[in-house]
Amino acid sequence: MPDTDIAAVTPQHPVTPPRKVPKPKTAAERKARFQRIVTELDKLFPRATCALHHKDAWQLLVATILSAQCTDERVNKVTPGLFEKYPRIEDFAHASREELANDIRSTGFFNNKSRSLIGAANKILSDYHGNVPRTMDELLLVPGAARKTANVVLGTAYNIPSGVVVDTHVQRISLRLDLTRNTDPVKIEQDLMKIVPQDRWILFSHQVIHFGRQICVARKPRCANCPLDAICYAKDKALA
Ligand code: SF4
Repeated sequence: MPDTDIAAVTPQHPVTPPRKVPKPKTAAERKARFQRIVTELDKLFPRATCALHHKDAWQLLVATILSAQCTDERVNKVTPGLFEKYPRIEDFAHASREELANDIRSTGFFNNKSRSLIGAANKILSDYHGNVPRTMDELLLVPGAARKTANVVLGTAYNIPSGVVVDTHVQRISLRLDLTRNTDPVKIEQDLMKIVPQDRWILFSHQVIHFGRQICVARKPRCANCPLDAICYAKDKALA
C-alpha cells in the first residue's frame, strides 16, 4: 500500500491556522511529545520504506551511492538501464570508468560516483566474496559508503537496525522538532539513536524522509496540514 500523500492527509487534518506552541518543560512532557511524534508518523506512513528500486543489496548500494545530491526519482530512471548493461557486480568492477560515468551522468557528480561504484565492486569482490557485507564496520570500508549509505543498505536490504539514516530531510526535521541541537549528521544520528528505540530505527528513518518530502518540506513547510502542529515550536514554522 502506498504511503499517505498530502492530498490524503488533508481531510484528516483540515487547514487550520498553525499554532504557537510552548516547549515541553519536564522529562515526562518530552517523552509524551516524542510518543506523539511517533504515533502521528505511524498514522501517516505505517509502512514507509526506501523509495530506491532494487532487487538485492548490491543494487541498493549502487542506487544509494547514485542518490547523493540527486532525487530518488531520477535514480530510479537510471538504474533499470544500468543493471541491464551491468547485470553482475563483476561487470561494475571491470567497467570503463569513463563509460560508466557517462551512463550515470544524469545523477550528477558522475565522475566521483563512477569511481565509487567501481571501487565498491572491486572491494566487495576481493574482500567479501562478492557479497555486500552485513556490518557497519565492514561497509564503511567500501568506497562510496559512509554511515548514511551503510544504514540504508543494512536496514532496507538486510533488516539490520544499525543506526538512523540521516539525510537532508532527517537533518532538517530533527532540528525543527527539537530532537537534536546538532547540525553534523553523525551527531544528529547519535542523538536520534538515544531517543528512538532501536526496533524503530529503520522505520523511523523512512517515515521522517517521507514526512520531509510531503509535509515538512524545506521551504514553506505545510504546517496548516501537519498533524504535528500541536507539538511543534520550530522557529521556521509557518504561523498564520
Ligand atoms: S510542517 Fe510545520 S508544524 Fe509540521 S513539523 Fe514541520 S515545521 Fe512543524
